[in-house]
Amino acid sequence: MEQIAYVNGSFVPLADAKVSILDRGFLFADGIYEVAAVLDGKLIDNASHLARLERSVGEISLALPESLPRIQEIQQELVRRNSLVNGMVYLEVTRGADTGRDFAFPTGVKPTLVMFTSVKDIVNAPSARTGIGVITVPDLRWARRDIKSVALLAQVLAKQAAAAAGAGEAWMIEDGKVTEGGSSSCFILTQDDVIVTRQNGSAILPGCTRKAVVALAEERQLRVEERAFSVEEALAAKEAFITSATVFVQAVVSIDGKPVADGKPGPMTSRLREIYVDFARATAV
Ligand code: PLP
Repeated sequence: MEQIAYVNGSFVPLADAKVSILDRGFLFADGIYEVAAVLDGKLIDNASHLARLERSVGEISLALPESLPRIQEIQQELVRRNSLVNGMVYLEVTRGADTGRDFAFPTGVKPTLVMFTSVKDIVNAPSARTGIGVITVPDLRWARRDIKSVALLAQVLAKQAAAAAGAGEAWMIEDGKVTEGGSSSCFILTQDDVIVTRQNGSAILPGCTRKAVVALAEERQLRVEERAFSVEEALAAKEAFITSATVFVQAVVSIDGKPVADGKPGPMTSRLREIYVDFARATAV
């Protein structure tokens, strides 16, 4: 079946989905993106993703070309047109294509809005059973990581280094502490059963899955601490895991080749994954 994308008001075959070489997303990475998971044909935690989209575009003074309700309708229509059951919807909004390459914001230019889908069985992914290894890399990114910018070169390099090492993710390190994964939020479970994840702020992206997992854990009276932790602390922990829209809750079983605990996904990670999948199904739209 031909894959369908959305470009500035039209649903078109993916091969015909094109934007100008003068698009500021292409020239300056002057754009914002979001990724929402799809489970059984429905969007997961999409209100949270759209709220973050609104915040991110606000932080760079970029006006959305469509309202948030309309964006959700387009996401749902794209899922339908692609007969997507399990996977994700990618959306990107940029400051549009000007007539040249001026750094300052152009006037009278309509933002670009594109979306496409991809297939992934997140719930039954083999890595959910086995866990993944991660490597550590220096965090080379800019100072506003709370904005979900399409400027992802540091993460491309980090995740390429992970792939080359046979690892599933790269944990980025700054001032001796883990900031986050290349495309995920990082968690550990300490020996005294505290779930620790770095506090939100400009050093990390406020993960939607992170937010939901923290709330779901607290609702169940599990102890959660939002603070930075080191790799040494992670290696001494009972469990480690990552969260993101495209993996949900994923066990981390080794860091730089050294096992976390017994090198197998732990019970708390498995429990939080089940709790998150239930939440996802219950709140899907
Ligand atoms: N941190 C970074 C740098 C990311 O790129 C992502 C997702 O792409 C996340 C965290 C996880 O965020 P979410 O749970 O909203 O997918």
